[in-house]
Amino acid sequence: AKQPVRVLVTGAAGQIGYALVPMIARGVMLGPDQPVILHMLDIPPAAESLNGVKMELIDSAFPLLKGVVATTDVEEACKDVNIAVMVGGFPRKEGMERKDVMSKNVSIYKSQASALEKCAAKDVKVLVVANPANTNALILKEFAPSIPDKNITCLTRLDHNRALGQISERTGFQVSDVKNVIIWGNHSSTQYPDVNHAVVITPKGEKPVREVVNDDEWLNGPFITTVQQRGAAIIKARKLSSALSAASSACDHIRDWVLGTPKGTWVSMGVLSDGSYKVPKGVIYSFPVTCANGEWSIVQGLLIDGFSRTKLDATADELIEEKEMAYSCL
Ligand code: NDP
Repeated sequence: AKQPVRVLVTGAAGQIGYALVPMIARGVMLGPDQPVILHMLDIPPAAESLNGVKMELIDSAFPLLKGVVATTDVEEACKDVNIAVMVGGFPRKEGMERKDVMSKNVSIYKSQASALEKCAAKDVKVLVVANPANTNALILKEFAPSIPDKNITCLTRLDHNRALGQISERTGFQVSDVKNVIIWGNHSSTQYPDVNHAVVITPKGEKPVREVVNDDEWLNGPFITTVQQRGAAIIKARKLSSALSAASSACDHIRDWVLGTPKGTWVSMGVLSDGSYKVPKGVIYSFPVTCANGEWSIVQGLLIDGFSRTKLDATADELIEEKEMAYSCL
């Protein structure tokens, strides 16, 4: 039998956490034959609620769930974890300046980085969900120098899945028959959902999305803004931010990273830029990646046209600005 994998979820008493932990305990993240031990962290005001989540996990009698640690102590939460999903963060409240939110999150990610550095498994894989996700991941990387850069990522898979969903809705093809969209850049409204290399698997073979959709005006306009603004649309409809889709895409991100992407398919992940596609080095930027043997690699050699170039650069500029703002908060 496989040894259990220890999975940390921070902010576990929150909305996304509540949707995410049962998915992990059911094997959605690491597979139906992989036992797990869940480590759940939240802040002291949420401790009672966190304990309620623990009670529900016990009551669900998940066969794969071999243990639950629910704590408000960061180091206890990080002890020996193999996977860390960082959902906890300070939300932007009405009237708050961007810089104030940044400053709160910088201090959270700095201290959690130190705890992971000190207590987690040496090969821990980290996924940052909490916003500003790319910059929180960058701060985490800076303050956990012994964790390899390649092991620190942020979530843009929800945006990626939203793009697949929009193409599927538009064309009538199953979402599982649409692949290789790309989310470039920041997990913010400057992200660039790119379909120039995406394909649909039709009964007559693979066809470019541009050919199947046959409406460049839609693809270059409303498609992009719908994906960029989908989070706001969910809030408007649900009066709460997206949680089940965020949790599901976090599982997709880790599953593909650990178990590999299918042949001929790439996904989007926020990773440390190595300068590919002339994206400045030193920011966490969403790229198309394939994964094998627990490692991601940026897909190389894709053609970037003028329209895309402008969009790749604009979202890079925002990340550089966020980086500067984050450093000024340290
Ligand atoms: P959610 O679970 O809804 O969201 C958590 C984080 O995920 C937020 O940063 C949020 O960003 C981000 N997020 C939300 N939707 C998406 C999305 N679609 N894609 C990517 N990221 C997304 O928030 P809750 O308030 O319900 O829960 C947060 C938990 O964190 C609480 O339990 C709280 O106690 C805990 N917390 C922990 C802190 C710490 O560790 N020190 C500090 C503060 C809170 P956005 O705000 O932009 O929606």
